[in-house]
Amino acid sequence: MYQCDPLTQLIQQIGVVEATPIQQVETNWTKKAGISLLIKRDDLIHPVISGNKWRKLKYQLAHLVNQKSRHVISFGGGYSNHLHALAFCCHHLNITCRCIIRGRYPTPTPMLNDIRNWNANIDYVTKDEYLKRHDESYLNALRERFSGVVLIPEGGSNYFGMDGIKDLAEQIPHDVDVVVLPVGSGGTTAGLIRALPSHQSVLGVAVLKGEGYLEELVKQFLFKEQYSRLNWSINHHAHCGGYAKKNDELIKLCEEFEQDTHVPIEPVYTGKCVLGIKQLCERGYFQTGSRVLMVHTGGLQGKRALG
Ligand SMILES: *Cc1c(COP(=O)(O)O)cnc(C)c1O
Repeated sequence: MYQCDPLTQLIQQIGVVEATPIQQVETNWTKKAGISLLIKRDDLIHPVISGNKWRKLKYQLAHLVNQKSRHVISFGGGYSNHLHALAFCCHHLNITCRCIIRGRYPTPTPMLNDIRNWNANIDYVTKDEYLKRHDESYLNALRERFSGVVLIPEGGSNYFGMDGIKDLAEQIPHDVDVVVLPVGSGGTTAGLIRALPSHQSVLGVAVLKGEGYLEELVKQFLFKEQYSRLNWSINHHAHCGGYAKKNDELIKLCEEFEQDTHVPIEPVYTGKCVLGIKQLCERGYFQTGSRVLMVHTGGLQGKRALG
């Protein structure tokens, strides 16, 4: 048997599939608007690791392995798909993972239970301390306290993440007109804007209240010439009041969409993306005949925490 690197080994061992299918779906609102709706099924990359979280982590994990670094720290809330994916991968790569969690969870969420079972360390911090997660002095203090540690930002959104999203962009057919996806920390959106050819536009659907703020998050990963690229924008009409907030319209739409298309979605990210697309169809936003591709960013493991 030939020697292969630990990341390739991990991919084989846990069964990650990066060449995910693209599926065309139809609902009464896509038909009325006269568009083709395609779904890039990145939820099928792996049952535990959310679609875009694998894409964003892949090259950081490769880097860790190459550096022979055995310790990472990252940040998130108690329901974080990113920390969940990271802790799972670190467990399999035998890397120590320390999760800095915003707030306290006297009753751990299902994700926190998994994370602990994968032997990650959990540090609960106050909301005020969590606000410092991007401050250089705070991060330096962590580097001093845990020497040799590698810090990964919230959501896994950094330049390694951009490279992973480029792999996704390369799997999107050239005859697609608009690529739509949910926006949280903006990393996936930025990665697509950077990598897609200029005849394709990128439309992010905000999953939280953040008009202006989310655009800034995306721009920090773009060069000037990319952020003046006119064909990207963020829609702020489908967040239903904030992160993880939901209403009857959203819940009903998630159920109907699953029945009509057999594509599973959840209300925190992908459900809001579908809601955004439906609202835009009803407003006549897409030209008749448009080929609209929604990136299914995964997150289905989060469904069990929603009750
Ligand atoms: C984290 C996440 C997102 C948001 O991606 P960002 O790169 O942070 O904008 C979207 N969908 C799912 C399912 C996620 O877990």
